[in-house]
Amino acid sequence: MRWEGREGSRNVEDRRGQTMKRVGGGIGIGAILIAIVAMLLGDDRALGSLMTEMAQGQSAPTTTQEYQPTGQEQELAQMVSVVLKETEDVWRDVFRDQLNRNYEPAVLVLFSGSSTSACGSAKAATGPFYCPADRKVYIDLSFYDELRRKFKAPGDFAMAYVVAHEVAHHVQNLLGITTQMDAQRGRVSKEAYNDLSVRLELQADFLSGVWANHAHRKTGFLERGDIEEAMNAASAIGDDRIQMESRGYVIPESFTHGTSAQRQRWLRKGLETGDINQGDTFSARTL
Ligand SMILES: [Zn+2]
Repeated sequence: MRWEGREGSRNVEDRRGQTMKRVGGGIGIGAILIAIVAMLLGDDRALGSLMTEMAQGQSAPTTTQEYQPTGQEQELAQMVSVVLKETEDVWRDVFRDQLNRNYEPAVLVLFSGSSTSACGSAKAATGPFYCPADRKVYIDLSFYDELRRKFKAPGDFAMAYVVAHEVAHHVQNLLGITTQMDAQRGRVSKEAYNDLSVRLELQADFLSGVWANHAHRKTGFLERGDIEEAMNAASAIGDDRIQMESRGYVIPESFTHGTSAQRQRWLRKGLETGDINQGDTFSARTL
């Protein structure tokens, strides 16, 4: 993938080196000790008030130590930023030309270790995800190594594909598809809801393909082998592979991504057509 020297996005929020620390509640070890003593004495009101205090405490970012990214991490951060910019340019055009609407870009949060989102805590182990509530994509760059080592899906474009997939969830959010999905939660059976989730994920793969189609036509950034990298990543991070190779590895949208073959098929369809209107995975009879 040719990305060096290209402009990055302004919508990257770099939280690397920040850890989330509870502040505001003012809970010291003293308060905890008092609560424990009170509890031992049979007075659980103190515990109750401590719990309330803890619940009211808020998380705030604190920089604990100077964050020193390695050269490789800096390069990766720059690449992710360039890819994000590329998604902004493409979706702005596709929204205007194919849907006659405005595209509002997502924010991409880079974090290291852990951070917070409106959808709960973000951890490196959870893998990249998109939070519809705050319209942000969360990525710990160590996922790149994980792609390479654990999922055997190395390469710049494999990582670019991951960014494109999460931004595709943002596109679905803007189009109201996420809200429609949410409305079904609890109203349909668990099986039916899982089926819907798979269709949502496959559509995100399709949209990633649509993005790659337009991005390549505009800037010719794809190189020989890139599509294979993306296909490989799509296949490697299909549910069946993930569950087989790393039991216990959970991504927030977990167990609902469809099989490797399904993911590849929809990605290819997006890539070949570049037409957002051909990605109705919800009505498709065969996935
Ligand atoms: Zn997804």
